[in-house]
Amino acid sequence: EKTAPTHFIRKILADDLSSAKHTKIVTRFPPEPNGYLHIGHAKSICLNFGMAQEFGGECNLRFDDTNPEKESQEFIESISQDVKWLGFDWAGEVRFASNYFDQLHNWAIELINKGLAYVCDLTPDEAREYRGSLTAPGTNSPYRERSIEENLALFAQMGAGDFDEGAKVLRAKIDMASPNMNLRDPIIYRIRKVTHHQTGDKWCIYPMYDFTHGLSDAIEGITHSICTLEFEDHRPLYDWFIANVTVPAVPRQYEFARLNLNYTVTSKRKLKHLVDDQVVSGWDDPRMPTIAGMRRRGFTPESLRHFCEMIGVTRQDSVVDVAMLEFAIRDDLDKRAPRAMCVLDPLEIEIANYDEAKVEWLTLAGHPQHDEFATRSVPFARHLVIDRADFREEANKKYKRLVLGKEVRLRGGYVVRADEVIKDSDGHITKVICSYDPETLGQNPTDGRKVKGVIHWVSRDHGKRAEVRLYDRLFNEAAPDKGEDMMASLNPESLVTVSEAFIEPGLASAAAEARFQFEREGYFVADRYDHSEDRPVFNKTIGLRDTWAK
Ligand code: ATP
Ligand code: MG
Ligand code: MG
Repeated sequence: EKTAPTHFIRKILADDLSSAKHTKIVTRFPPEPNGYLHIGHAKSICLNFGMAQEFGGECNLRFDDTNPEKESQEFIESISQDVKWLGFDWAGEVRFASNYFDQLHNWAIELINKGLAYVCDLTPDEAREYRGSLTAPGTNSPYRERSIEENLALFAQMGAGDFDEGAKVLRAKIDMASPNMNLRDPIIYRIRKVTHHQTGDKWCIYPMYDFTHGLSDAIEGITHSICTLEFEDHRPLYDWFIANVTVPAVPRQYEFARLNLNYTVTSKRKLKHLVDDQVVSGWDDPRMPTIAGMRRRGFTPESLRHFCEMIGVTRQDSVVDVAMLEFAIRDDLDKRAPRAMCVLDPLEIEIANYDEAKVEWLTLAGHPQHDEFATRSVPFARHLVIDRADFREEANKKYKRLVLGKEVRLRGGYVVRADEVIKDSDGHITKVICSYDPETLGQNPTDGRKVKGVIHWVSRDHGKRAEVRLYDRLFNEAAPDKGEDMMASLNPESLVTVSEAFIEPGLASAAAEARFQFEREGYFVADRYDHSEDRPVFNKTIGLRDTWAK
């Protein structure tokens, strides 16, 4: 194993421990439960949980649940499951920002009492005008100088449900002329008369993300609050809240560059669009860059963790080539996946000199390099199927498969020669009559004939039928979400379903999520939900080599 490239976050953590600034590292992963996690989140998970693990610290899983109308229990469950599947575990119970609503509410009152927060009646449009712009300072709200008593009373009334949604907000009193827009009296609380998935109807006012996030970090004793670069401009506000209420601990925020991948969208909003428009079958469709989708596609947790290690952690925004992700899974499955044979486009062959009643159960290696893989027993008989693409009536020397009048080796079996082609009335090949050389099982022809090609095959009468879903990249364009219409970049061939593939008999009883290399075809996984012994279903994870190379 290659050692991980080091990075600035690792250095900060090491320094903070060696200088005794902290005795223990505590991080958190703070998803909002408003969608499924995607590959970008995997980077954040590997960083937050990975660093805590490496330094003997702890990482919390905290749901940042301040927008009840967009959140749900389904997302809470999928996110928790994805984090575990990736191989991580959080310290103690799952946490929710909503667990802290009472404390946050008290802190809002503390700010009012200090003259640092006020209730504002500006409409959203007015507030936008008062806010100014990057080039023009804002203007103080006419409600900014309300007395502490009036603010306390109005805030209590907001909480009691006396006002309509949008009628009033609680704002921090910071600086309407700040060059940092986030400091121009940001909203702390707003009215939302909706039921919350955790707190029910207890609240009709909800704290804003910026107020909630840093103070939740303080409550949990987070030492290093690691987030993506778009929050850099929010750091002064993060620090302002921490400095102005009575917190039990002082966390610090550090930013890193988010993961962007070409040919991929990594925004929950856009992924939701694909789900809502039924472009995919759901959040866990095997073409989705969600963790649940990649799992169903056949990715291993190890490959995702290794990918996150390879891409490193920096403060420079960049776009990672999706070929790196594909390399990571191919590389991992090459070592991990037992070999098997599956014929996707069956063409029958009949071995005329092989006894009709005879069946030989051949022993084939589970893996060509690793003896620890169990061997498998594969039946050889007179009637077999091979892939239609592996036979031609005529071909040049580059075609190392079965050609009329020539020989090829059947993987793990005998050398066969194609003697005769049977066609239907349309000229379509229905069968190839062959003969086999009985001296060639596990050895070359005794007379020194050279047979170059090796093809895969399955016994027609022993093989099982399977549905095989051939997945490919969801988008054809390197930057699918940059143009006008993400939908115009969709790859129309991202899913091709083969309903009657032939698989080795042993494959039908594969466990759901078992992964294989189908020889000469690629890596496949038994579908997590739809596969059964009676109705085997396999998903293509990735081909054997990169066919997208530019
Ligand atoms: P999206 O923009 O897709 O909705 P988000 O940032 O709103 O994602 P959250 O649930 O708030 O999603 O994110 C949880 C954590 O994951 C945050 O700390 C966020 O910074 C991090 N994260 C989200 N997207 C990426 C990404 N592409 N690369 C690295 N980290 C990410
Ligand atoms: Mg977010
Ligand atoms: Mg975001």
